[in-house]
Amino acid sequence: MRYVIVGNGPAGISAIEGIREYDPCGEIVIIAFEGKLPYNRILVPEYMVGEVEESELFIRDAAFFEKHKVEVVAGQRAIAVNIEERSITLEDNDNNRDLLKYDRLLLATGSQNVIPSWINRDIRGVFTLWDKADSLKIAAHLEHTGIKRAVIIGAGLLGLQAARAFKSYGLDVTLIEKSSRVMPAQLDEVASEMLCRAAEKLGINICPNTEVKSFRSVKNKIEAVETASAILPADIVLIAIGVKPNIDWVNNAINREQGILVNEYLETNILGIYAAGDIAQTQDPLSGESTVKAIWLNAIRQGKTAGANMAGAREKHARVFCMNSIQLFGLSLIALGNTVNRQGLAPKITNNEQILNYPSSGSYQKLVLSGGNLVGVLFVGDIRQSGILYHKLGCPLTEGYLGNFHLTSGEALMAEEILR
Ligand SMILES: Cc1cc2nc3c(=O)[nH]c(=O)nc-3n(C[C@H](O)[C@H](O)[C@H](O)COP(=O)(O)OP(=O)(O)OC[C@H]3O[C@@H](n4cnc5c(N)ncnc54)[C@H](O)[C@@H]3O)c2cc1C
Repeated sequence: MRYVIVGNGPAGISAIEGIREYDPCGEIVIIAFEGKLPYNRILVPEYMVGEVEESELFIRDAAFFEKHKVEVVAGQRAIAVNIEERSITLEDNDNNRDLLKYDRLLLATGSQNVIPSWINRDIRGVFTLWDKADSLKIAAHLEHTGIKRAVIIGAGLLGLQAARAFKSYGLDVTLIEKSSRVMPAQLDEVASEMLCRAAEKLGINICPNTEVKSFRSVKNKIEAVETASAILPADIVLIAIGVKPNIDWVNNAINREQGILVNEYLETNILGIYAAGDIAQTQDPLSGESTVKAIWLNAIRQGKTAGANMAGAREKHARVFCMNSIQLFGLSLIALGNTVNRQGLAPKITNNEQILNYPSSGSYQKLVLSGGNLVGVLFVGDIRQSGILYHKLGCPLTEGYLGNFHLTSGEALMAEEILR
């Protein structure tokens, strides 16, 4: 049996482990566009400003591939899936076509940044940040003299992480966000406000409800970002308005919507072809909606299951809930499950929301319930107990459970009252 895995991020790497649990001997080939050793891209903002060394990024070493008897095709990009002949074409395809034949294929090419069509990528000083190569380009730009003012477009998780990194590097940072909230896919107004205040205390300027109109450049070098109400001088601009699955290279016969559509076994509509991680679109265990869940844990879990199934197992992929856990601007924050609705609008305060702590106490803790089941958890400040709550997602909350939550008597009373 020959397995070909395209992409050596967490999904591709976990698939190797999944395959080897069931098939110790089959041939495994992995196409590793970014180089042989997989790394933790979550640390890319820190790497960009020299807060972590390259050696700290790697999640597997060369011995991993030897131990699992994996052939790594490094520095190559797959550009086509040839369904009839069961093979992959590489951008730099040479005479070694047999190498790319597969019996089982895993698509694990992750995500890429969304870049609006009006943006001229040739203007010097305008960047996106997704991989190591991006962070090295930004680091080189930062070394030029006179780079003092950064404007970041998009205050999602990536934009906020970059803002923190740029600030600690010593830049003046302005963050522009179209929505009324930062991290609009995870935070409600209250949590967003807490995060904004913490950022502003560090001198980060946040502009919510603001859209970019254009970039101003002189001699093809960025000078400013223009919004409806201001011209923001900029020596560097980062576009962080979201990511989308890397599916353009995948044969159109493989069904897709936002991402590649897979069933609960991570199979696509084409026999022998699987998809896992940021590229795959699956059913959300809480809402039942078909979505792409671009988070690390999901990539690991799906990769492992896809690998096992490619090697003959018949496992359903584990239920993974949205989970963002982060320390930003001195605040701990955790958002689990569905804390805002699909359109990114924070649900209005209704009986379905239970506030366990208000910001006046120093922490904000909110549970979201639907039909009596816990579907969302949003904690800012004190995030203790949130790990337990992750395992309660999708389940009814009982009074017995609230006892486990170590609420103070006042908090427990309030929570019980709401549950009644
Ligand atoms: C700055 C940053 C911060 C993040 N923070 C968090 C966080 O706090 N929590 C969290 O859960 N997630 C976070 N994420 C998201 C998380 O990193 C991704 O969900 C995860 O990496 C997805 O894994 P994957 O294996 O599906 O794809 P990827 O990690 O993207 O790996 C895919 C690999 O495939 C390669 N590839 C792409 N196209 C081709 C091709 N045609 N041929 C060959 N190879 C190809 C890519 O170069 C890449 O190496 C963050 C991401 C970034 C960039």
